[in-house]
Amino acid sequence: MNIERIQQPFIKIFPGDTSNNPMQRNTPKVLFSTIKPAGFEKPQLIAFNEALSEEIGLGKYEKKDLDFLVGNHLPENIQTYATAYAGHQFGNWAGQLGDGRAILAGEITNDAGKRTEIQWKGAGATPYSRHADGRAVLRSSVREYLMSEAMFHLGVPTTRALSLAFTGEEVVRDIMYNGNPQLEKGAVVIRTAESFLRFGHFELMSAQREYNTLEELLDFTIENYFPEITSTDSQKYKDFFENICTRTANLMVEWFRVGFVHGVMNTDNMSILGLTIDYGPYSMMDEYDLNFTPNTTDLPGRRYAFGKQGQISQWNLWQLANALHPMIKDEKFLEDTLNRYGNYFWEAHDKMLCRKFGFDELKKNDEEFFTNWQGLMQELQFDYTLFFNQLEKLTSNVDIKEHFSNASYTFLNEENSNKLKNFIESYESRLKSNTISREESLKMMERSNPKFTLRNYLLYECIEEIENGKTELLEKLTKALKNPYQELFPEFSSKRPSGYDDTAGCSTLSCSS
Ligand code: AMP
Ligand code: MG
Repeated sequence: MNIERIQQPFIKIFPGDTSNNPMQRNTPKVLFSTIKPAGFEKPQLIAFNEALSEEIGLGKYEKKDLDFLVGNHLPENIQTYATAYAGHQFGNWAGQLGDGRAILAGEITNDAGKRTEIQWKGAGATPYSRHADGRAVLRSSVREYLMSEAMFHLGVPTTRALSLAFTGEEVVRDIMYNGNPQLEKGAVVIRTAESFLRFGHFELMSAQREYNTLEELLDFTIENYFPEITSTDSQKYKDFFENICTRTANLMVEWFRVGFVHGVMNTDNMSILGLTIDYGPYSMMDEYDLNFTPNTTDLPGRRYAFGKQGQISQWNLWQLANALHPMIKDEKFLEDTLNRYGNYFWEAHDKMLCRKFGFDELKKNDEEFFTNWQGLMQELQFDYTLFFNQLEKLTSNVDIKEHFSNASYTFLNEENSNKLKNFIESYESRLKSNTISREESLKMMERSNPKFTLRNYLLYECIEEIENGKTELLEKLTKALKNPYQELFPEFSSKRPSGYDDTAGCSTLSCSS
């Protein structure tokens, strides 16, 4: 790999602490602290993403590169660093946070001029680790590695994953926070993104009244990542905020399209580029449930439930608006933009649903149709992915109850079957008002409805296998997730097996990482 191509513009520009001190502490007035990865004696490679490595300019993997992948060997002239950010967690201001188990190497530019930041996750403590160890376990690392790639191939904006390796260390974790700590295998993932900047970076500078640095950070971000913004002065910052609103709304719509629940939508987990970032207790939806939250910490309030993600993203943008206010100084603009966000999101959301159903355009009565459909999905406990797959395969001569029975987590008795039949009738009559052909409509559905989604139980099985020294399922899932709109492996096109209904780490997850 060409690791000597890695450059470090970020830390050359912003105020930082270069003491290379891993002790946890507050670092006022700085945006980063230099810190070296811990170093691991017996690393072992589990997976490497060759295509991504080539794409970003790192080239081919050789055996000696493993030391770089776990942070043992660093390119010359590189100072590795962790960034400081702040955030609102579960609705409350949490003050200074920061990269607690992520360390940045810098960024690489490929031959086409595309820039990519490179970051180790789980490579050791930083000044921002608070009371934790900066390590990551195999479980959470496999989940990040596979899901971020699955999202990429689904077409959802996301950070990506380059490699997954055992550190050779064991790490203590209390997975369900119930006083039963266990030793788990440690792992490091390298993840990449155009930028890992979060809402929280801007919130930190604003809360500390570091307005000069805030302005510099804004200018840096716009210049480097928002070439479409050409305005100047405070209009530039207004355009920036509007742009983030649009990107965030589009991201939420994409999460709804594929059935992704993030689980910890704190503002420190919100990417300034509108990427899916920080894969923790996330889940793809099996049975459709607007109230579903995979995160056990979120269970009392279900703040981050599937159906709330649009609303919560707006709340998060409101916190960003507060942070940017000193630069924009126009409350009415910020308020109007946030109000427009709601309308924009819902329209984009409904248009997305139209594509899932194969409707040519959003019509007046579609909103009512979607509400009825949501009710049906919840009541008859349909699997989100399988329901649409079966809808695509529906023909006029099938028995509707039979056709959908394997897509439901409940028994379709006569009453339920009649509800389903009525719904399908209303669907077919809505299809008749399409101005596009049935073939075009079907193509639209096939592009919008994945055939393969990375369900939690599959991840659970994959992690168990890797722990037992096997990688067959990992390889199979890697193939499947690269082609999510095809059915490569029919065994993945079925519901979650009932044995997994209440399995910890499967239907419920914690932030323990
Ligand atoms: P999360 O909820 O995963 O986004 O994490 C919230 C904060 O806790 C972030 O600042 C993380 O960097 C930090 N954090 C989470 N797990 C660890 C860990 N194992 N070691 C150090 N910091 C951590
Ligand atoms: Mg985080």
